[in-house]
Amino acid sequence: MKMNAEQLEQIKDLLSTIKEKSPFYKQKYADIDVSKIVDQASFETLPFTEKADLRNAYPLGIMAVPESEVVRIHSSSGTTGTPVIIPYTKRDVEDWAAMFERCYRMAGINKNDRVQITPGYGLWTAGIGFQAGVEKLGAMAIPMGPGNTEKQLQMMQDLKSTVLCSTSSYALLLGEEVTKQGLKDKICLRKGVIGSERWGSNMRRRIIDQLGIEIFDIYGLTEIYGPGIGISCGNGYGMHVWDDYLYFEIIDPVTLKVLPDGEVGELVITTFRKEGAPLIRYRTHDLTRFIPGRCPCGSRFNRIDIITGRTDDMMKVKGVNMFPAQFEEVLANTDGASSEYQIKIEHVDGKDQLTLFFETEKPESEYAAMEHDIVTAFKQKVNCTIIAKAVPMQTLPRSMKKTARVVDLRF
Ligand code: ZN
Repeated sequence: MKMNAEQLEQIKDLLSTIKEKSPFYKQKYADIDVSKIVDQASFETLPFTEKADLRNAYPLGIMAVPESEVVRIHSSSGTTGTPVIIPYTKRDVEDWAAMFERCYRMAGINKNDRVQITPGYGLWTAGIGFQAGVEKLGAMAIPMGPGNTEKQLQMMQDLKSTVLCSTSSYALLLGEEVTKQGLKDKICLRKGVIGSERWGSNMRRRIIDQLGIEIFDIYGLTEIYGPGIGISCGNGYGMHVWDDYLYFEIIDPVTLKVLPDGEVGELVITTFRKEGAPLIRYRTHDLTRFIPGRCPCGSRFNRIDIITGRTDDMMKVKGVNMFPAQFEEVLANTDGASSEYQIKIEHVDGKDQLTLFFETEKPESEYAAMEHDIVTAFKQKVNCTIIAKAVPMQTLPRSMKKTARVVDLRF
């Protein structure tokens, strides 16, 4: 995505004082003359900021304001080892709420809505972010927090909640309970704001049907404010992102070079206005792409695709980046193919060769047609020619670990 003049000015402003304000960047940029960063190309030479950097700065080494300016901290749930602590100033909290309010507006939520918030409150950024946005919008927040499904359903009926904020898995659970208890006619939900995580179209369909809602994917991460830095709209697909607060790049996670628009890679974010913990070229490890062109909804904000995985899942075959979710999607759209598959990557005659084995209940006489459809669909989707091989049900090894589906014999 081309950096616009306003964004460049904001970046230059940020860089002009970063070493003075942030002990973290003073050290990180010790050998860098930030006054030489004058355009997009020179900006792209700056080193990335990694989650490990933030961990090493635990607890408050990332703080870039005097402590008297900090009004709150949040912490990202470290799946491994030391967590990350992010300090927020008053303005950071206000900016986050303003972005969140914009998300709700984009989803067509207004001050007459009653918003049931089920993500957690506390160190994690989720619940309180949803709530601050609701309050700024002027709607009614129903701050439930997670769990206690019976109480959730009771409040949903008694208070006539119109919007559900939730993870996809909890929305599905609530939807199943609503169906089981025959409550669909007793609830008033019209929209769901669902935290963007990798989830299939089947799951989405079930949530929509069971709760009778329109779904919006919301994106965010604790290191960059929290949820609310982007959301899908009613038209088209992907999520609009707030590029007046943040600068977004998509890089190849292997070469670390910025990718042309439309190609899938890792999302990298720079904060323009964040005071407590400004971050420059922060690697999210989330895989997505810029969706080229304007959205039919008319918004001026560019879009990224729904997050399709993490960089750890990615494979490079014949010079093309791809990841398991793309195979899963093709299989899900192929009549008769089950969700069980295995990918084998080999080096044959100096070239990469990828074989996708998939299970099917169909008779062997139909294998060839299915294989042909899958190869064609994948070529269209990812622009890479693969080999597809149908196998009977229960043929492929079962494993709890997703990564075991990919067998890479090249290295
Ligand atoms: Zn749109």
